[in-house]
Amino acid sequence: MFDRHSYRLVCGACGAEYVDDGLRLSCDVSHGPALLRTAYDSPRFAAQAPQDSIFRFGRWLPVVRTVPDSPGCVVYNADRLAARIGLDDLWVAFSGYWPERGAHMPTGTFKDLEASTVLGRMPDNPPTLVLASAGNTAAAFARACSLNGVRCLIVVSGKVLHRLDFEEPPAECVQLVALGGEATYDDAIVLAEAIGGLEGFQLEGGIRNVGRRDGLATCLLAAFEKYGRLPNYYFQGVGSGAGAVAAHEAAGRLRLNGCPDAFPRLVLCQNAPFTPIHDLWTRDQRPDGGGPAVEPPGSAAAADQSAITATELANSRPPYAVRGGIREILRESSGKAMAIPNLEVARALHIFEEVEGIDIEAAAGVALAGLTAMVGRGEVARHETVLLNVTGGGRARRGREVELKAATPDLWVDVADVRDQSVLGATAERVAGAIRPALFT
Ligand SMILES: [Zn+2]
Repeated sequence: MFDRHSYRLVCGACGAEYVDDGLRLSCDVSHGPALLRTAYDSPRFAAQAPQDSIFRFGRWLPVVRTVPDSPGCVVYNADRLAARIGLDDLWVAFSGYWPERGAHMPTGTFKDLEASTVLGRMPDNPPTLVLASAGNTAAAFARACSLNGVRCLIVVSGKVLHRLDFEEPPAECVQLVALGGEATYDDAIVLAEAIGGLEGFQLEGGIRNVGRRDGLATCLLAAFEKYGRLPNYYFQGVGSGAGAVAAHEAAGRLRLNGCPDAFPRLVLCQNAPFTPIHDLWTRDQRPDGGGPAVEPPGSAAAADQSAITATELANSRPPYAVRGGIREILRESSGKAMAIPNLEVARALHIFEEVEGIDIEAAAGVALAGLTAMVGRGEVARHETVLLNVTGGGRARRGREVELKAATPDLWVDVADVRDQSVLGATAERVAGAIRPALFT
């Protein structure tokens, strides 16, 4: 049904094109960092698949197979919420658990979209997939890899284990490594990258993986499918910004294929006091010009990271200055970055649950708070159409209705063995050696 030759990977910096091998994350040509993008031969995204499956967008997914039980996000007109905050036309792209609306995301966030597409993209007999997670990605990949027998090593900070609960415990082919002490998401990324470079392992790649981005892009495609046009604005709470980059790429693909609408203006919302994307963008807007030419260094602001409500958004190394990255999409869409304090996040969470009747996760509350603020200041006019990306919906309700079991790490690693550069390589080898037998049982 799907085949590698119906799309190419195109480098955002030099234009080099590649036939996908299902794993490629970057261009071979020597230049600054750049995202690869997919270019599809088909002018239409529709493919034969069940209506509730993400694979109905299969002609614009970089996949060679479908993955069972891969529901897409649900898009609906949030009229009551619109009236409450002062809009006439508000669309919500909802990823989560809300049976009455037909939302059955298996682990409750849009990370399930990423996991389905990444697995659909992989070649047969792939190396062991390695990824770091702030929590939700781990849940999505652990479940998807367990069900599909894909070997996977997931690194998390021990502090997010409470977010990892499953209807069924992960299979043996999924190994969970937890970092002890004051480990952050950044530490998990460092260890995952070190293991991903070892023989037999492959870094999943996060935002660099076109499978992830094109899976997330289905939120915008679902809105276009339903309404036949693009919204004027797109609001999302962002950490790496993968969802926003994906939405922008999808809008570009639709425009290339006859959609006359302008790019939706992207509004990327972060939770203060930890707002690296907002800070970089604000610096870029200064009249003296010029932001940093390189990515920001791994932030030392661990205190700020733990001070935010939406801990899922604590990514200190967002792909800001890379070709095809955050700065480019904000410029191209006349977008904006916002910093939302915890108090406003709490207020937004309360409003959504009160008006829509379902709980949402803090990251979505950050986006709703940003939207409410801009409408309140008259920066988004009442008549504008807005798409609000809501992930992690119905999580609390699901916790009450479905019996979930907490995850148990297969291995604990001391964060000191990751932060010390002189032992990092040995730590990676040790972890790989320890979990290899379990992966191949
Ligand atoms: Zn290139």
